[in-house]
Amino acid sequence: MIIKSDKDAFEHYLTDASNFVGNADALFIPESVEELKEFVKRCNSEKIQITVSGAGTGLTGGRVPEGGIIISTEKLNKIISIDKGNQLLTVQPGLLLVEMEEELNIYGLFYRVNPTEKNASIGGNIATNASGSRTFKYGPTRDYVMKLKIILPDSEELELIRGNNFAVGNRLNLKSNSGKTYEIGLPELKMPFVKHAAGYFIKSGMDAIDLFIGSEGTLGIVTEITLQLASMPENVLGGIAFFDDCNKLFGFVKRVREGSRKYDYTQLIIPSLEMNNNSLKHPLISGIINARTIEFFDYNSLRLLKENYSQIPDRAVGAIWFEQEYSAEFENDVMEGWYNLISEFSDLNADTWIATNPKEHNLLKEFRHTLPEKVFEIIVNNKTLKIGTDTAIPDEYVEQYYKYITERLKFYGLQHYIWGHIGNSHFHANVIVKTEDEVKNGYTFYDECIDEAIRLGGTVSAEHGIGKLKRKYFYRMFTEDIIEKMKAIKKVFDPNNILNTGNLFE
Ligand SMILES: Cc1cc2nc3c(=O)[nH]c(=O)nc-3n(C[C@H](O)[C@H](O)[C@H](O)COP(=O)(O)OP(=O)(O)OC[C@H]3O[C@@H](n4cnc5c(N)ncnc54)[C@H](O)[C@@H]3O)c2cc1C
Repeated sequence: MIIKSDKDAFEHYLTDASNFVGNADALFIPESVEELKEFVKRCNSEKIQITVSGAGTGLTGGRVPEGGIIISTEKLNKIISIDKGNQLLTVQPGLLLVEMEEELNIYGLFYRVNPTEKNASIGGNIATNASGSRTFKYGPTRDYVMKLKIILPDSEELELIRGNNFAVGNRLNLKSNSGKTYEIGLPELKMPFVKHAAGYFIKSGMDAIDLFIGSEGTLGIVTEITLQLASMPENVLGGIAFFDDCNKLFGFVKRVREGSRKYDYTQLIIPSLEMNNNSLKHPLISGIINARTIEFFDYNSLRLLKENYSQIPDRAVGAIWFEQEYSAEFENDVMEGWYNLISEFSDLNADTWIATNPKEHNLLKEFRHTLPEKVFEIIVNNKTLKIGTDTAIPDEYVEQYYKYITERLKFYGLQHYIWGHIGNSHFHANVIVKTEDEVKNGYTFYDECIDEAIRLGGTVSAEHGIGKLKRKYFYRMFTEDIIEKMKAIKKVFDPNNILNTGNLFE
């Protein structure tokens, strides 16, 4: 067991990637689940606030403590088992994505979600229901979580296996390993039909495991996770297509979406056919175009990237990074399908970059990752701030919403770079602000984006969660009654309100 009470020794844990800074009295680093359990028991009986820290890549201050003690999962980072036959992986929460993926590569296994930040912990991904570039086709983390072991704030242990504990209508009854019962009333809540990471997952008849995924550590500490994997796809075609007309870019995205068997947010399921690996071999199931990734770069992002990538066409006003899995026998059909579609919508089709082997795919990935790095450089070099949106809206409004965002940014004259998951109608508008006026306008712009997303039936957070920094928007999205009912769920598990206090709720 490691306990640090000298602030200098744990200063780093007082913040996350949002740069929001908190305070705490000590840092506790358990080296076993038993130690963690004992510690939680003591904190609960003494009503000491505890905040769980994963790897600190969160963007909403979720792991940032507001007093009490920090519990870091960094030493609970073992791979417990790999079941190759059933393609299941069981790990401790502190394992980093990068470490997990390295291990999976050895076995030719594949984790479908692909969140961009590989230094995040798996526990953090579960707590925020992280998503990634392949979420367009495969959905978020939730869909791959088959089992969770959790320590509740009263130090009881809960084991949840997907498919074993369903709510009966709006009542959910759970039993801890020692037999203690928990009765939860679920509010009547219509979740938005979009990628969504704001507050608890609630649905009549739901699986209990889904309540804990994306709950931002407010209900329990995840100590063990079993994930469903898949076989490595046989082949992947990747590409970056450039466009000199934004309307045509949106036309292209619409057609790609229509052709693809995408994750269905109205049902919250991956088309069952796609869970069967054999179907992945057949790109013709829904036509030749069957994308797993559709990502967007705006004009400003391309101008910034051009400093490193001179080959970006001068006339490009936007670009799309796409990926599709296919089997070798369909290679020509797939190539031709994409070539024809790009040619139909872009006069810059000859400038398309294509990747078919790991080396080429890495170049495209590098291109995508260079963008946030360059924006980060701007922030550091110019001592500015970044305000980043995380809203998503229903697909039918994607173009309208994008135009709304860009018009408001133009109105305020703010420096900005927009990129992100256009396949899920989810953009990150990254606004750089320095002067007092810019900061004020930046936050007004953010407010407007939130209001417009809510008005269109979208969400205030599609993947980063609420943490402490976005509570105000969470309260704007849901009625007071719903928020109170969500709080009541927390109270069932955490009557002393000790765990991750300040996340989601004021
Ligand atoms: C450059 C960059 C790119 C990013 N790209 C993506 C992306 O593509 N998709 C995406 O979804 N997010 C992305 N993020 C955000 C971030 O990586 C995710 O939110 C990630 O899931 C956080 O994991 P973490 O281990 O860093 O958690 P932390 O930041 O340490 O914590 C996040 C939350 O999880 C809770 N938590 C952590 N571990 C546990 C546990 N064991 N039990 C209970 N609660 C726990 C914490 O208390 C906190 O509330 C990105 C961030 C950066 C900086």
